[in-house]
Amino acid sequence: MPIQDQVYDCLIIGGGPGGLTAAIYLRRFTRSVALVDKGNSRLRLIPVSHNYPGFPEGVPGNVLLGNLSVQLERYGGSVMPGEIVDLRIEDGLFVGDYAAEDAPEGELTRIRAHTVLLATGVADGGLPIENWREAIAFGSLRLCPVCDGFDVMDKRIAVATADTNPVGHALFMRTFSADVTLFERGSASMLNDEDRRRLDAAGVRLIESPLLSVTLDASMKPVLHTEDGEDYSADVFYPMLGEKARSNLAAKLGARTAQCEELLVDAHQATSVPGLYAIGDVTVGLNQIAVATGGAARAAVRIHNQLPPALRRPPIRPSPLRPASGGPAQAG
Ligand SMILES: Cc1cc2nc3c(=O)[nH]c(=O)nc-3n(C[C@H](O)[C@H](O)[C@H](O)COP(=O)(O)OP(=O)(O)OC[C@H]3O[C@@H](n4cnc5c(N)ncnc54)[C@H](O)[C@@H]3O)c2cc1C
Repeated sequence: MPIQDQVYDCLIIGGGPGGLTAAIYLRRFTRSVALVDKGNSRLRLIPVSHNYPGFPEGVPGNVLLGNLSVQLERYGGSVMPGEIVDLRIEDGLFVGDYAAEDAPEGELTRIRAHTVLLATGVADGGLPIENWREAIAFGSLRLCPVCDGFDVMDKRIAVATADTNPVGHALFMRTFSADVTLFERGSASMLNDEDRRRLDAAGVRLIESPLLSVTLDASMKPVLHTEDGEDYSADVFYPMLGEKARSNLAAKLGARTAQCEELLVDAHQATSVPGLYAIGDVTVGLNQIAVATGGAARAAVRIHNQLPPALRRPPIRPSPLRPASGGPAQAG
């Protein structure tokens, strides 16, 4: 049936680990699913994740993503490449405007669904380093202390102040190295006396001259340049630029958001809009693969239980053999 003629049980927007896991669960509950993905999962940036359970040697982000897609295909699901550019409610159904990746510009297909699961992730703040993709792949630029702090044990670690809790990440990194330096980002210090006292107590070096730029040396290590003309070498740099949740489709429908435009959800991943669920980085909470897949499990079970029951018909079996008239055939 053409996409626009169907009413799906669930439209999943975003095919990172969250969206793909939810689709696997829902397909295994025999639900019809349209999963649209624009292809920018943060997973693609991960050279190797060492904290996702079940992979003792670590797993490259794109391998995990590929495995999830193959698993979804086993249950008759697939990813529709492209973008949902608008989401609304019409006659009690969700309607998403789908711009397929290979469609002529401006051509949109309507996707109707009883429920929507938003798994659109976050957009990272602009990274201040040329060749930042290579630096991430090399491991000299890192975006997530919780993800890979263990992997930079005893290295020279540079951290920039974040907009909220400016010293928190530098203090967190002291678990992994005695050589942690915090760089102030702006000319007006974001730190108060208590922040300075905590840095001092933990032995974190503070560079107050504002960080102007970061370059990579010949061995791909970061060099941090400050306003006073000094250059500082490090092994790894955590820029802590912040992220912005891609929650606009839900916010337009009135879903409640918190800091960084992240969506507020209940214990079953439901937003404040009935029938609209959200999981993973786009929601309030820790940005981790395990959190996205855990949320996917919760949301999928809830969605399945809230939809009208999917009652299975009895299998079609050949009619039982009837004895031939005159009774059972006699042997011999
Ligand atoms: C460098 C790096 C290293 C990391 N390392 C780890 C690690 O080791 N361990 C760990 O647990 N976590 C790690 N993370 C975090 C992890 O990648 C995220 O927590 C995880 O990918 C979140 O999954 P998600 O499904 O919520 O979102 P994402 O994986 O970001 O997927 C969201 C998807 O939605 C799509 N999308 C957005 N808007 C639309 C739209 N309107 N229509 C269609 N599609 C849309 C995007 O293109 C994207 O493909 C790391 C992140 C980075 C950047």
